[in-house]
Amino acid sequence: MNLNLWLAFGVGLILGSFVNVLVHRLPRMVMASFEPSNDDTPRFDLCLPASHCPHCHTPLQIKHLLPVLSFVWLKGRCGFCKYPIGWQYPTVELLTALIWTACAWRWGLTSTALCWALFGTSLLALSLIDWQTTLLPDALTQPLLWLGLIASADQWVALPLTQAVWGAVWGYGALWSIATAFERITGKQGMGGGDFKLLAALGAWLGPFALIPLVILASFTGAIVGLSLQWRHRLPANGYVPFGPFLAAAGAFLAWENPAQFMQSLGWPAF
Ligand SMILES: [Zn+2]
Repeated sequence: MNLNLWLAFGVGLILGSFVNVLVHRLPRMVMASFEPSNDDTPRFDLCLPASHCPHCHTPLQIKHLLPVLSFVWLKGRCGFCKYPIGWQYPTVELLTALIWTACAWRWGLTSTALCWALFGTSLLALSLIDWQTTLLPDALTQPLLWLGLIASADQWVALPLTQAVWGAVWGYGALWSIATAFERITGKQGMGGGDFKLLAALGAWLGPFALIPLVILASFTGAIVGLSLQWRHRLPANGYVPFGPFLAAAGAFLAWENPAQFMQSLGWPAF
């Protein structure tokens, strides 16, 4: 493996640690913003309180915060109270590192690689947050949408700006219409507003023509996972499988695969 790939891997590991912080704190920050606060409410954001063990609350030192390495060195337990650390932490760090390495491998150390690596990292964070809390925070979906439009405007990615804009518009509009119709007919809420914003962001990165294969792929994989969880009686307590992780996974797949070529390989006429 050459030096560039190792560099991307290292950056990915460090950002993976940050993804863990986002996944842990962002949903709590969103929920806290709905509650009344006063001057006595302790500060809680991405920086404070400093990283600490959730069990014994001891603040962690630098040597406890090294991505993956600390987990291996501490044998998966808190250095103070020996409480087990979740496998999610090193897994997310490694996954983020793989996303960055894959982008550097495909596009070299270019702004294109940087854009797609940020795209993949945001989708990973959004998927985990949605899976655990059924929230898709605006603090992630909105910058993802803007970055997609900017990447297209500055030609860091190949998608023309007109397509990026229409992708965002149709992404939001299509899912909003389906959800509104579903709600009118069944009286139940099928999707949350975060799903529309996520599809708008994916549309800005992949263009309007990717939206149909994207939603089909996401629905199909979501249905398979939902049914198998139901069959094994492992559905979440509210009986609801969030759609965001499947939209994100389908988006990442099509970003890598090139939607036009993918559709043609399925026999769809060229566009
Ligand atoms: Zn501890």
